[in-house]
Amino acid sequence: MLVMALDPEVATANLTTVETIVKLVYLLAAVGFVMGLHLMRSPATARKGNLLSAAGMTLAVAMTVVLLLGTDGFDVTTWGWIAVGSGALVGSLAGVISALKVQMTDMPQLVSIFNAVGGGAAALVAVVDFVHRVWGPGGFEMAFTVPVGLDILIGTVTFSGSIIAAGKLQGIVSGAPITFFGSRLLLIASALGGIGGVVWLVVDPGMLPLIVVAIAAFAFGILMVLPIGGADMPVVVSLLNAFTGLAVAMAGFVVDNTILIVAGALVGASGSILTKLMADAMNRSIMSIMVGGYGTGDGGGAVAAPAGGGTVHVIGAEDVAIQLAYAQKVIIVPGYGLAAAQAQREAGELGSLLEKHGVTVYYAIHPVAGRMPGHMNVLLAEADVPYTQLKEMEEVNGEFDSCDVSVVIGANDVTNPAARRPGNAISGMPILDVDHSKSIVVIKRSLGHGYAGMDNELYTNPKTGMFLSDAKKGLSELLQVIGGYFE
Ligand code: NDP
Repeated sequence: MLVMALDPEVATANLTTVETIVKLVYLLAAVGFVMGLHLMRSPATARKGNLLSAAGMTLAVAMTVVLLLGTDGFDVTTWGWIAVGSGALVGSLAGVISALKVQMTDMPQLVSIFNAVGGGAAALVAVVDFVHRVWGPGGFEMAFTVPVGLDILIGTVTFSGSIIAAGKLQGIVSGAPITFFGSRLLLIASALGGIGGVVWLVVDPGMLPLIVVAIAAFAFGILMVLPIGGADMPVVVSLLNAFTGLAVAMAGFVVDNTILIVAGALVGASGSILTKLMADAMNRSIMSIMVGGYGTGDGGGAVAAPAGGGTVHVIGAEDVAIQLAYAQKVIIVPGYGLAAAQAQREAGELGSLLEKHGVTVYYAIHPVAGRMPGHMNVLLAEADVPYTQLKEMEEVNGEFDSCDVSVVIGANDVTNPAARRPGNAISGMPILDVDHSKSIVVIKRSLGHGYAGMDNELYTNPKTGMFLSDAKKGLSELLQVIGGYFE
């Protein structure tokens, strides 16, 4: 069919047939997206889901190229097509190389950069189409200007906000809330400027309102993310992911491409659900994140964190092994440090060794542990930890009261009892009730704080023993010692 169509005349005659085929394949791609998302609901099928969605996207892109070639008389020798081909090649290569090279711990920054690129590209699609009409055929019906305005607004907010989020996650921009005199007023002004600009663009289409929308949205993205404190970053990253989807869906309306609308709507919807889940996990409202007053806890009074001090009980592998050898129920609590040390295999081995010797073992998964949603699930799946042993926070919190030993591996903020008091950076965030266990072992390199910059009072709890070590090194040592006890 395609070979026949390479003759320009036959191609023109067959364009309607090509369009029909393309639409049918788009439908197939959309089914792939939806089924892929469905499979991503469980860690056991998530990989298949990812592959299925990627296959759907490959089909959709290929069909869009076929459609564009068809309207161009299937002439692949023009400069435009050479540019499209080279652009796609460079973009694909950059995507593949960065995805292959990125460390697991740097994945959130990469996701933020992808959000920025997605939102920015969607906004540029609208700008190009709009400018083309300003200097070309005109035609500014509302069905065109409304999605153009919204696309530039949401896409640009996503672009600048995601760049700041990536900078915070990478440590280039301070993770602490950044505010300055008048920053809240500027945030409100830029929000009003952006929305007002869209209305102006719809009522009186032209380059000036377009520039106003772009500048206001760019400022809003920056001012929205700067004041967000470390612990609240998961909510803002998933919010920006949802924004990317919305911007892409708007771009679909601008260029009248169904599959772009479907893909964007799916990303927007799933991103919104994830944002709601993350906000619930942090006990924050999405609105408070959008308009400020976040990242500094609930602001509910001036109750200070308890004065430092307290005695820290430092222990070694031998002490931990004895505790575990006599335990009947052990809960392993993984956190970002486990990912940083790449100690998932050792953590998995510890669990299976204990299970083999009749100990009941659970892995407690906090929704924001690590640096991206599902981070701990992914790591532990890599180490072949049975899914039945993974317990989400709500489920596992009831188990700590009857737990003999909790082994906290590189987790900090998600175990910090300070979250139960008002007036600090993690106030109100539900935590894993590790301090309810009969005994607590914490494996980390120092007494240093977690991502939110808060000291952890769990470390001075009389029930806690600090095994100060790199997670991988400490667990390997522990496995050797405990192996001796079980021989
Ligand atoms: P934290 O970031 O609070 O703490 C991690 C701890 O790991 C540190 O205190 C560090 O202590 C320790 N650590 C680092 N490297 C190693 C190593 N090689 N071996 C052993 N320990 C190590 O982690 P949590 O998982 O408890 O909390 C996640 C935080 O990140 C939350 O505040 C969350 O809001 C935030 N966040 C989460 C995102 C998500 O989507 N999940 C996204 C962005 C932020 P030491 O240096 O002493 O070893």
